[in-house]
Amino acid sequence: MHKSGFVNIIGNPNVGKSTLMNALLGEKLSIITAKAQTTRHRIFGIFNDEETQIVFSDTPGIIKPHYGLQTNMMQFAEETLRDADIMILMMTPKERKLKDEKFLNSIKKMEIPVLLLINKIDASDQVEVENAVDFWQVELPNAEIIPVSALEKFNTDSLLNRIKSLLSEGPPYFDKEALTDKPERFFVSEIIREKILLNYQKEIPYSVEVEVESFKEEPNITKISTVIYVARNSQKGIIIGHKGKDIKRVGIQARKDIEKFLGTKVFLEIFVKVSKNWRDNEKSLRKFGYQQ
Ligand code: GDP
Ligand code: MG
Repeated sequence: MHKSGFVNIIGNPNVGKSTLMNALLGEKLSIITAKAQTTRHRIFGIFNDEETQIVFSDTPGIIKPHYGLQTNMMQFAEETLRDADIMILMMTPKERKLKDEKFLNSIKKMEIPVLLLINKIDASDQVEVENAVDFWQVELPNAEIIPVSALEKFNTDSLLNRIKSLLSEGPPYFDKEALTDKPERFFVSEIIREKILLNYQKEIPYSVEVEVESFKEEPNITKISTVIYVARNSQKGIIIGHKGKDIKRVGIQARKDIEKFLGTKVFLEIFVKVSKNWRDNEKSLRKFGYQQ
């Protein structure tokens, strides 16, 4: 029987959410450790073993949307909250509230399992941890309280087992090899699509498709390679513009927004391809593409 589910980790900044996610995801996902330091908007981290797929997710509230994408992104954020199968709320032994009280109130009303983690117990003492447990038992009666140290990986294995036991039967949501999901790529292509809408006449935006081909997060820069697919050769010329000035403008505008969205510097490549036979002929089409 395969089990799966969405586990949403929330908590105040610096409580150890990223550290916990990495501890739970294990060495297989050490890449995410590096990413977490440079990316403010990491959304999913996926745990896979033979019988389980757990889709961990950082606080959707941290997404700071920009411009026209704002509504979509907020909807996505709220959706992620609603979609949680298990809620993890993290607190340090000293903390007694969340920066946004609304979150705590909605967690109190949740009918899904809520795990309240008291993190950083390695830097605390028994009395302080016991006080925290006493406080949260009263404050959040629907929560199961688990003291952990994400940093020292104390109790994180049993936490993972507890999560597995709380999950319901279900198929994997993502490829079993997947470590993260597609939303960042998705938003990158949406941002480019928005710039195409702004820069070209009506029929062009509706005949294009934007695909993110590669997305590499390095310590100081994220390198993104994208393709704008058009239906006809003539449209390719229009997208590129005289001496490439139109595609260049799209690239500059998109890059600025993507940098804001990801919270990191971005190197953005945009290729333009005719989509007719691109699947069969991808390499040869690439050489006709425009590289910014
Ligand atoms: P986030 O903002 O909630 O994602 O927090 P991070 O995971 O980035 O951690 C913030 C800081 O707390 C980092 O310096 C971590 O090393 C530290 N930290 C996280 N978990 C623990 C823990 O269990 N014990 C101690 N002592 N420090 C921790
Ligand atoms: Mg973090």
